[in-house]
Amino acid sequence: MMGQGTPVIILKEGTSRERGKGAVYNNIAAAKAVADAVRTTLGPRGMDKMLVDSLGDVVITNDGVTILKEIDVEHPAAKMLVEVAKTQDQQCGDGTTTAVILTGELLKKAEELLDQNVHPTVITKGFNIAAEEAIKALKEKIAFEVKPEDDETLKKIAITAMNSKGVGLAREKLAEIAVKAVKAVISKKDGKITFDPGHIKIEKKHGGSVEDTSLIDGVLIDKERAHPKMPTVVKDAKIALINSALEIKKGEFDTHIQIRDPAKLQMFIDEEQNALKRKVEMIKKSGANVVFCQKGIDDVALHFMAKDGIFAIKQMKESDMVKLARATGARIITALDDLTESDLGTAALIEEKKIGDSKMTFVTGCKNPRSVSILIRGGTEHVVAEIERSLNDAIRVIGVTLEDGLAVTGGGSPEIELALHLRDFAPKVSGREQLAVEAFARALEVVPWALAENAGLDAINILIELRAAHEGKKGSKTMGVDVLSGKVADMLKLNVIEPVRVKTQAIHSATESAVMILRIDDIIASKKSEPPKGGGPGGGMPGGMPPMM
Ligand code: ADP
Ligand code: MG
Repeated sequence: MMGQGTPVIILKEGTSRERGKGAVYNNIAAAKAVADAVRTTLGPRGMDKMLVDSLGDVVITNDGVTILKEIDVEHPAAKMLVEVAKTQDQQCGDGTTTAVILTGELLKKAEELLDQNVHPTVITKGFNIAAEEAIKALKEKIAFEVKPEDDETLKKIAITAMNSKGVGLAREKLAEIAVKAVKAVISKKDGKITFDPGHIKIEKKHGGSVEDTSLIDGVLIDKERAHPKMPTVVKDAKIALINSALEIKKGEFDTHIQIRDPAKLQMFIDEEQNALKRKVEMIKKSGANVVFCQKGIDDVALHFMAKDGIFAIKQMKESDMVKLARATGARIITALDDLTESDLGTAALIEEKKIGDSKMTFVTGCKNPRSVSILIRGGTEHVVAEIERSLNDAIRVIGVTLEDGLAVTGGGSPEIELALHLRDFAPKVSGREQLAVEAFARALEVVPWALAENAGLDAINILIELRAAHEGKKGSKTMGVDVLSGKVADMLKLNVIEPVRVKTQAIHSATESAVMILRIDDIIASKKSEPPKGGGPGGGMPGGMPPMM
């Protein structure tokens, strides 16, 4: 034990340090600033942000996580909010703005309690109790079941996720593609569905219309064949995936040798050609009629391949090689001598097609049907980029819904329902933690509030109406903000539906990071620029944080 009353100096003089309440308030202010920055983007009527980096590159988006990833935040507490957005994105692919503004609002409500001298430990304990209860209520009382064959609901969920993105009228078509793509690649084991978004390959080509966006039953490669004399179509493709250059190694023949005799020179050239010819013969012997090579291919080798009717692509991306291996059943080989028929993959058709002003290669009818690609088309680079983000959200929410089999209505309806639920629940919580549970309930209302505000509505009136619509025996759980008509309406009828995980995860990570920020009572500028850790001297925090759900 440390001696009582003897100050122990652990910091060099001049180290910047902020302690106690000041530290908490400082962190809360930074986190709130980040939350406020993305708040105006929430919902279908939310505004877009234009992000310009130091090189002048522009991203126009409404996507919470994109905004937070692109902006430079310095403050450690602000960085924690960026982490909240990233976690939400990883877990659900949607709901990033919601998670961030919820964190900001929890901290704002915590600040009010701190002002009333409620201790941070009490607040964090109450927040954890409230979050656990809210997640339980969401899953058990508010959510409804979605069957895997219910394509209509899955499409509505995809459209809801895309509502706030600038993809306009193409939503319907994109939703249909997304549902088909996800259902083509999910796997079922013991009745449990799992989805890996990595199994859907997305390629984009600007030029053309969003309506031309299409689903390809196979792998789409953004490359053309390596020699004009090669066939553009190969049926019953036997595919070799090669991870080494089909070239003569530098040094093998490229060294500086003086040849005076022209006959010797010819011999030399012949030797080089023969070596390449032998390589191509090895490929041919294996039975391959298609080659995807991750490295370069010498012109002479290409010439021999073309003569043999082999279709080849060089300088393939590694990620494409991996996808092709999975889809066609081919093994990626490095040494050509090892290539045998058993290493080859198969596909019914390989075809090079002109898309816009470039050529792409379609590998369809693959051995493993669980691999699909989506080719995004759209007027400009900005348009295809935003469609890609929307489509990614759509794919993820469909996958998450299929995995969990549970959804809720959106438009602020679950948040209002939860707020009412927690108000009823609060009296069961003993001590001052009750105040924190009530504060948590009020914080949840930031979602319908922001949706209303962003739609130019009177948020106070909307909230009063919403509470009334949810309250009592005749209350409806699905009433939310219709941002288009400006009224309170039934979100089920308006087809505004979201996976339950978007909501549970947002509550989980918002609570976790709000609690973390509240537990910091000492900011010390350390040598490494790591976020400060809690539990410094003088804070009086008991050890052991209440477990998260
Ligand atoms: P996030 O990054 O949190 O997903 P969004 O900008 O995508 O943020 O907005 C999501 C919110 O918009 C959710 O609360 C969702 O229910 C709501 N929303 C989506 N479409 C509608 C709609 N047509 N009417 C009302 N609310 C909607
Ligand atoms: Mg969204």
